[in-house]
Amino acid sequence: QSQDLTQARIDYHAALMALQEHGTRMVCTGKMHTDRICRFDYLCYCAEAEEFVFFHSNSSVMLPNLGPRRFQPALLDLSSVEDHNTQYFNFQELPAAALKFMPKPVFVPDVTLILNRFNPDNLMHVFHDDLLPIFYTMRQYSDLDNEARLVFMEGWGEGAHFDLYQLLSSKQPLLKEQLRNFGKLMCFTKSYVGLSKMTTWYQYGFVQPQGPKANILVSGNEIRQFAQSMMDKLNITTPGGEESLVDTKETDEYIVVFSRSVNRLILNEAELIMALSQEFQMRTITVSLEDQTFPSIVKVISGASMLVSMHGAQLVSSLFLPRGAVVVELFPYAVNPEQYTPYRTLASLPGMELQYVAWRNMLEENSVAYPERPWEQGGIAHLEKDEQDRILASKEVPRHLCCRNPEWLYRIYQDTIVDIPSLMEVLREALKTRPKPTKAKPSSTVHPGRVREPQCQTSVQATNEAKLTVSWQIPWNLKYLKVREVKYEVWIQEQGENTYMPYILPHQNYTFSENIKPFTTYLVWVRCIFNKNLLGPFADVLMCRT
Ligand code: UDP
Repeated sequence: QSQDLTQARIDYHAALMALQEHGTRMVCTGKMHTDRICRFDYLCYCAEAEEFVFFHSNSSVMLPNLGPRRFQPALLDLSSVEDHNTQYFNFQELPAAALKFMPKPVFVPDVTLILNRFNPDNLMHVFHDDLLPIFYTMRQYSDLDNEARLVFMEGWGEGAHFDLYQLLSSKQPLLKEQLRNFGKLMCFTKSYVGLSKMTTWYQYGFVQPQGPKANILVSGNEIRQFAQSMMDKLNITTPGGEESLVDTKETDEYIVVFSRSVNRLILNEAELIMALSQEFQMRTITVSLEDQTFPSIVKVISGASMLVSMHGAQLVSSLFLPRGAVVVELFPYAVNPEQYTPYRTLASLPGMELQYVAWRNMLEENSVAYPERPWEQGGIAHLEKDEQDRILASKEVPRHLCCRNPEWLYRIYQDTIVDIPSLMEVLREALKTRPKPTKAKPSSTVHPGRVREPQCQTSVQATNEAKLTVSWQIPWNLKYLKVREVKYEVWIQEQGENTYMPYILPHQNYTFSENIKPFTTYLVWVRCIFNKNLLGPFADVLMCRT
């Protein structure tokens, strides 16, 4: 890789002059280190010191200019995992004049995205922490195009899924250890540092027990567009679209069991497969990361009607399932499905249109545990006897933080004999109410605009009787839309009171007389609602005096 980098044509002399004269320039977005991404001209990296360097000159720029707050705790997060203290980014500073005494810099001509992968050997982490955030960070900055260079600074080797990272741009990603090959001082002509966290949906439990992120900003649409782009690059075509409306579909439907061959096994897999096939009258296929390449697994999953698997990172592959498919996640004994929901959350994102079902082994005699294994595979032999006894007697792992809780590891690495009758019961119950898979859908989430020209008129009938008429015009975008049901919501609040009366109305005006008092001021808000639940914004509040 060193060749394709150094061969690229850049005017070395001009670049060196620019660096010496202008120094480094940095302009960032984000108010906090946790939401910051920075763009640099001439950010340099000293391989010997393993430090990034910002060169100051008369025309260098550093925005935000935080002073020492840059170290409290860092300029930004280099991975998409929020505020993790092993993932911070900062640089050291030097005057540009110091370049005279330093090794000749090597310039990287490519537009570069510099980041940390969080855990490149775990498929969930690969997709959730790295691939999706990189994909959408690249879409945020248009010069991070297919020719962009990715640089992974976490210090790991390629990892088990490097070929997936290679799909994100046409250039070979660089690992930290490879940076030394470019010389003692390398300078990135144009680079971005940091990752967008906009697509992440799960927090792993470093500061509070794991669970969905508090404010999820991604929908199934963005996940599916990413999945489609990955499949395009892998040359995987799915029968989807028009073909799926053809009547032959019944015969091609199939179930995928994603199995693990090393640990957390399903001990009666053959029985499970037979039962699934019989119950749903479909073929059932097994895949595993040990037996198939990931692209071949994606191909199978992208056409499946149901994906069944033990809890585990391989379940992130459900993002390749077609709309309407069912995800069945199996949990070992004493593990509560409500508390480990990365895949439930993914399947339930609006617009993912997957149906999620969890099953939990409730029969201890159907589980096989491995107390003698090393602690990271769930062994507990290293613990005090009392603690071992407590764990063995416990019927459910209590809430805990990531990542080394021995009781959690002990339970989650159990093998399971899946009790077929209880699984089938859960499946039958859950699949009774199957949401209709919507055909060629999107764009059904167009929200109403504000209602226009809201007005009120009032009249006093008697000393204790008054009327309030509110009217408005339809939102601007409605005249271009076919909407099944358009309704309006009106809130009326007596000035000074802290409660209000809400009304849902079918037309563009209404006269209120109940609960309307003479010589009183009312505040009135109006908004439009499409199809029962797509809310528009309220128009400016009306002040109506009877
Ligand atoms: N893995 C696998 N087969 C196994 C065990 C693990 O394919 O028998 C994969 C798993 O999908 C993940 C990685 O190896 O990508 C690490 O697995 P681990 O059990 O550490 O993590 P988890 O799946 O619980 O997130």
